Amino acid sequence: MARTTWVLGNWKQNLLREPARNLAAAIAEGLSAARGEVQDERLRVGVAPTFLTLDTVAPYTGEAAIQLRLLAQDVAAQESGAFTGEVGPAMLREAGVRAAIIGHSERRAHFGDHDTLVAAKVHAALAGDLDVVLCVGETLAQRDEGEHEAVVISQLSAALGGIQDPAMRARVVVAYEPIWAIGTGRTATPEQASAMHGVIRSWLASAGLGADRSVLYGGSVKPNNAADLLAAGDIDGFLVGGASLDARSLLDIVSAAAAHAAANSGS
Ligand code: PEP
Repeated sequence: MARTTWVLGNWKQNLLREPARNLAAAIAEGLSAARGEVQDERLRVGVAPTFLTLDTVAPYTGEAAIQLRLLAQDVAAQESGAFTGEVGPAMLREAGVRAAIIGHSERRAHFGDHDTLVAAKVHAALAGDLDVVLCVGETLAQRDEGEHEAVVISQLSAALGGIQDPAMRARVVVAYEPIWAIGTGRTATPEQASAMHGVIRSWLASAGLGADRSVLYGGSVKPNNAADLLAAGDIDGFLVGGASLDARSLLDIVSAAAAHAAANSGS
């Protein structure tokens, strides 16, 4: 069966209520046209606003396959309790969130989200009925040293190695985001991304998480490079930062993903 293609926008710490509402409305309005003939689960599109604007964006999102999905940029590692500043999985579910991005490199670099904490967040999210978009990726120095595959495998194994329940495993999507490509305008070449996706897929298969898991790429994806990245094979869509702050750009990336999903629907 063909793997699901994803386009997920990460709005990061951007947009007050009104621009967040306007952007969500514009994406929701253009979504059906951008999806073209792919009006089902073969293509999933979502956005991750700040915690505080989840309620603002929620009315433009929904549970149906063709609707925009609501994601969170992070989640607490605990269900609830005395954890000042944290937002737990049940709170996110109540706000309409379907999935949480976990282990983004900006969280790993600036907020101490080390492998153990990332694993705890993954477990809390899955236990709390949220799907997980797990981010992994290497620094430029690690790539230059030829350590990039080992780094990514170690991140995967720390975050996902302990998940035994097959139903939970089925709810994880991995996003490969080379840190040197995030917000830099420097994209991994289709060959670099595709090679790492092959490594990730092999690890997922060997760890029993299934070779059919979608693996996304993130790092300066724009409308003008999306189709080339998808054509490289093994890339099942994108986690998009900067370009997701513009409705037309995100919708153009959705159109490229829809063409990819339609072309691969029989495979
Ligand atoms: C991201 O933050 O996940 C990301 C990929 O950002 P950008 O597209 O801006 O590189």
